Amino acid sequence: PMDFPAALRTETPLDVLRRVFGYDSFRGFQQEVVEHVAGGGDALVLMPTGGGKSLCYQIPALLRDGVAVVVSPLIALMQDQVDALRAVGVRASFLNSTLDPDTRRLVEAEFVAGEIDLLYLAPEALGSRATLNLLDRGRIALFAIDEAHCVAQWGHDFRPDYLALSMLHERWPGVPRIALTATATSATRAEIATRLDLTDARHFVASFDRPNIQYRIVPKREPRKQLLSLLRDEHPGDAGIVYCLSRASVDKTAEFLVANGIAALPYHAGLDAVTRAAHQRRFLREEGLVMVATIAFGMGIDKPDVRFVAHLDLPKSVEGYYQETGRAGRDGLPSTAWLAYGLQDVVQQRKMIDTSEGDATHRRNLAAHLDAMLALCETVRCRRGQLLEYFGQPATGPCGNCDTCLTPPESWDGTVAAQKLLSTVYRLDRERNQRFGAGHCIDILLGRSNDKIVQHRHDALSTFGIGTDLREAEWRGVVRQLLAEGLLAVEGDYGTLALTEASAEVLGRRRTVMMRREPERPASTGKTAKA
Ligand code: ADP
Ligand code: ZN
Repeated sequence: PMDFPAALRTETPLDVLRRVFGYDSFRGFQQEVVEHVAGGGDALVLMPTGGGKSLCYQIPALLRDGVAVVVSPLIALMQDQVDALRAVGVRASFLNSTLDPDTRRLVEAEFVAGEIDLLYLAPEALGSRATLNLLDRGRIALFAIDEAHCVAQWGHDFRPDYLALSMLHERWPGVPRIALTATATSATRAEIATRLDLTDARHFVASFDRPNIQYRIVPKREPRKQLLSLLRDEHPGDAGIVYCLSRASVDKTAEFLVANGIAALPYHAGLDAVTRAAHQRRFLREEGLVMVATIAFGMGIDKPDVRFVAHLDLPKSVEGYYQETGRAGRDGLPSTAWLAYGLQDVVQQRKMIDTSEGDATHRRNLAAHLDAMLALCETVRCRRGQLLEYFGQPATGPCGNCDTCLTPPESWDGTVAAQKLLSTVYRLDRERNQRFGAGHCIDILLGRSNDKIVQHRHDALSTFGIGTDLREAEWRGVVRQLLAEGLLAVEGDYGTLALTEASAEVLGRRRTVMMRREPERPASTGKTAKA
């Protein structure tokens, strides 16, 4: 509809921001990125979710001649992204497998004629000769590579299609490229730069701090009930996302919430596409809905008033945790990131790693990611500080808005407890050649003469009953923390406990182990924090 006179091409980035998008001023380093890319430079942009990455390529797309080609893995969201641009008068289209042949031809013609400013493409499209030939026939303003961490094998969201994107530079050497991601450690960032041939690109790295998000990690007891009190006490009527690991637990949790009067909807890959799309739409448009979902949900979701993100299962990596919790509070208002985590999570994830496809390096990689996540869960330090450090950003002291800052966990010298537990595992393993799970080892320490104990004559072990000074919950905490520190390992289908090389240091009294005290009741910090 709008026909831009040539004079408008001389607009400044700020003019475009105001005229087209209706915003007053740039955020963070948006303006620097826009100027750099509009001037023909390559860029690698790291900005947390909600930071405003899109404008970093959308404005250069309007300032430069030709069509900006945006590579995005989020096929389900292309329509929304394009609609949002069209709503402000920007000419945008997309090409992906969902289009019918007629529409596809129409979009291709628009591209060749330069009648659009942005063309969104799925990464797999660039693997097809037809698409490459099409791109040769038009004039390309720039390439934007969204969710660029998908190119990194060391990351948590690897997509093989992304590897082919390194050819953009070879095929169209004069076209500037901008890669964007919300999540990357320095290792991942280096991998992105290498794989996308962006080593000479300018890097723009925003602070990853999300000060309005309150991070809380609690021991998992009865997760659904714990979740329900969180929602009732602190987030009544609020919109939020609840992440579960499995489809089955998504369904059960959504049913449980609905049965308890909370407006909740399930979302996972096992639901048909129509239902999924309908639930997503309702979540975006209606107020106060709770989306219970697997991690299939959320990438690219732009809903500013998500007041909480709750995890009922342990995320596989800190990157994943950060990205998922980052969907809370994009409007800058106080929001909660809440995670319930327990021993079973560790057992389950170790098992998934052991049985995962891929080579030893891949499994080590997964294990390293899990270890970093466990370390975050068990830390007695400021959670935010630990998160930021993980992403290579120095923290500036305790944040005052995470559970460990608000109710500092007591730490205690757990060396003796650790020795008791480890020597139980040692005796079972070395003396009897048996391995058992955490529950059974704790039963031995607590001196419980149940059937299994009697059957295996574990009441005759020298460690039987020597742990009655701690409660069962405390023992589980001991096991978790030993696992998190690599002083103990879980193995096999049944999550049996085994010693590690480092265990010997504790058994030999060469190492003390400080532990986080298990709270008597779940820590509730909500109200005070909102002040
Ligand atoms: P990201 O892709 O980094 O997660 P988006 O590009 O989707 O973030 O932007 C998040 C939200 O912030 C959007 O609603 C966007 O319109 C808004 N936004 C971005 N830049 C600005 C700005 N300079 N001023 C005001 N709002 C902005
Ligand atoms: Zn803190």
